[in-house]
Amino acid sequence: MFNKILKRCPLLLFLLVFVGCQPLNNLSAPPKKTQNISHEFKDRLFIRSDNYLAGKAPIDTHEKRAYKYPKNYIIEGNKNTKKVALTFDDGPSIYTTKIIQKLNNYKIKATFFMVGNAIQSFPDLVKKIHNEGHLIANHSWDHTNANEHQYIDKYWQEQITSTNSLIKQLTGITPSLFRPPFGSTSEKIIEKLAENNINTIIWSIDTQDWNNNINTAQNIASIAIKHAHPESIILMHDGGGNRQGTVDALDEIIQYYQQLNYQFVTVDELIALH
Ligand SMILES: [Zn+2]
Repeated sequence: MFNKILKRCPLLLFLLVFVGCQPLNNLSAPPKKTQNISHEFKDRLFIRSDNYLAGKAPIDTHEKRAYKYPKNYIIEGNKNTKKVALTFDDGPSIYTTKIIQKLNNYKIKATFFMVGNAIQSFPDLVKKIHNEGHLIANHSWDHTNANEHQYIDKYWQEQITSTNSLIKQLTGITPSLFRPPFGSTSEKIIEKLAENNINTIIWSIDTQDWNNNINTAQNIASIAIKHAHPESIILMHDGGGNRQGTVDALDEIIQYYQQLNYQFVTVDELIALH
């Protein structure tokens, strides 16, 4: 009886075979991405600030390089974990001790991108910062603004290895992170650093504390808070000018992120999450 029906109705036969094969098809198909996996990585890496001013490398240049050199040119972490890295440039200076004191009050670690000729003035402070568990990184010897036409070997010797050697001499550790002054660098320099296992680190939130016209504690904290995002790298300064605004902004910034259950990490810890 059933055979007769099937002979008269080939379409029903086809449907029965097709439905019968479905479990097999599913077994052999690759597993579909779950919602969790697809949201683990960021859709886009980008730099945030208020009224970004001219005079630095354009934001889109940083963002394009972050995609071109995903392991060696870092503007922020590429996942969505609640981690944040505070970074301080251009020191050490008389403000560095005040900043370290604030960080230690909250038992958090930060990253200091130091300038070689400033290190010479505060060698004991550099040792102390390192011994307390903060990360010391390279920010050139004399804050020279590199450009696309920079003579690479001269720049390498005078700005990179000189500063790394001095930091190694004081701490025993050769830095593996370099932040170019003004965020200005070239692909040749990025590639030469990468060949030597040194990553170029930019930032994803610019607090503009370098701008003496607007660097009140209130403005600095406001920018750092308004643009909070997972795995951010926050740009601030402990040297290069009057940094009292930066010192005074720290309590509000740290308390805000801690309320949101963010963990403060050094930049090398953030990169390890890649
Ligand atoms: Zn700088």
